[in-house]
Amino acid sequence: MTRQVAVVGGGWSGLAAALEAAALGAQVTLFDMAPRLGGRARSLGDGPEALDNGQHILIGAYTSCLALMRRVGVDPVQALLRTPLRLRYPDRDTLTLPGGPPWLAFTRGVLGCSAWSWPDRLRFLMVSSRWMATGFRCRPSLSVAALCGDLPDAIRRDLIEPLCVAALNTPAPQASAQVFLRVLKDALFSGPGSADLLLPRAGLSALLPEPARAALLRHGAQIRTARVQALRQAGDRWQIEAGDDAWTGDAVVLATTSVEAARLTRDLAPAWSTQTAAFEFQPIITVYLESEGSALPAPMVALRETAEAPAQFAFDLGQLAQRPGLFSFVISGAAPWVERGLDATAEATLAQAIQTLPWRTPPRIHRVLSEKRATFACTPGLLRPSAALLPGLVAAGDYLAGPYPATLEGAVRSGLAAAHSVMRHNSPATGH
Ligand SMILES: Cc1cc2nc3c(=O)[nH]c(=O)nc-3n(C[C@H](O)[C@H](O)[C@H](O)COP(=O)(O)OP(=O)(O)OC[C@H]3O[C@@H](n4cnc5c(N)ncnc54)[C@H](O)[C@@H]3O)c2cc1C
Repeated sequence: MTRQVAVVGGGWSGLAAALEAAALGAQVTLFDMAPRLGGRARSLGDGPEALDNGQHILIGAYTSCLALMRRVGVDPVQALLRTPLRLRYPDRDTLTLPGGPPWLAFTRGVLGCSAWSWPDRLRFLMVSSRWMATGFRCRPSLSVAALCGDLPDAIRRDLIEPLCVAALNTPAPQASAQVFLRVLKDALFSGPGSADLLLPRAGLSALLPEPARAALLRHGAQIRTARVQALRQAGDRWQIEAGDDAWTGDAVVLATTSVEAARLTRDLAPAWSTQTAAFEFQPIITVYLESEGSALPAPMVALRETAEAPAQFAFDLGQLAQRPGLFSFVISGAAPWVERGLDATAEATLAQAIQTLPWRTPPRIHRVLSEKRATFACTPGLLRPSAALLPGLVAAGDYLAGPYPATLEGAVRSGLAAAHSVMRHNSPATGH
């Protein structure tokens, strides 16, 4: 008896769900409306001109992503540059975490950070011990800015604010302290190497989507390029309508964006659909600059964001074995810059780059990419929808209820869980 499972959406959550369901013995059909799998984390274009749809960073704590990559034949040691967490600005180094047991590494890192005064370092250790004593939990209504209100300015500016906007894609005054504390706990305090930065040395499509496509085809899965327009329940079977294409089977994993998931479930699960439609989003802008012969002081450099200088981080794609002379500048929580317009943002990023970094040849704007709905706004008290929808219908995606903000790891974990859930569901399976 083979269960027929459709996965709608081929981003990292859908790919995880499809691979896991296939491994559990399902006959999988994957639908994605885009010709290229990978969703928000994919490459655009082909060959040497390909660019990522926005710079991505993974961290050592992304154990499910790393395991899934290995499963489809990608060696994370080759595909990702692993470095200890080090927040290096053009003019000074701040926190660097040495190896070793997490609390010891953190304490040594903070005490060794000469960019901060001794009272600031001690204050930070005191406040973080308090976070540990409370199990990294706080009131759900608290913002990151309020949580960190009694930290010294230098630590908020050098560490908390850039980490918050990078991890939650939401500026500290609007960001959920509860989610931020959970990220800190899992990244900084959960095991050796979990805070390490893993920077892609290949395009995003090569990290998972393309090898996953090949693995799915090897498993006998079908991959169809079509936008799913409607989802219907017919007794204990599920039907999908996708333009000229149609599918009927036992179970569906709905791994689209939240907006599409809300649309497809409007009649099936109205309360879930209303909750899912209510997300607010934060944009991310990536500005690619080119400058022949130039190199940044490190593969990843932190930058000071101001009202005139938009980028928080810059990456040297030459040092990441991708394209020498190409640099990505990341603007997370970019709503104010989207309002100013992409041309103005690109010019401001170029000016920031010229002012703050050394260049051998004058940098030029190569390309500007903007994802208006890059992630949901991770605000205090946000209630996120659960994965369970109806018997045989389960959602997957980075927006679902869970401890993490919108990340690749959250997406992959939810895809894996969705596959187990639809394979457990006990409506009769089809004989073949
Ligand atoms: C610019 C940018 C930078 C980011 N940086 C990081 C980072 O550094 N680290 C990190 O961990 N995360 C980062 N993220 C977040 C990360 O990319 C997402 O959390 C993750 O990719 C979400 O995967 P998903 O499968 O949940 O959704 P998606 O990737 O959105 O996948 C949904 C898929 O569903 C398909 N689809 C939608 N509707 C339909 C339909 N009706 N029929 C068929 N197919 C449909 C879409 O084509 C898409 O392929 C970043 C995101 C962006 C945009």
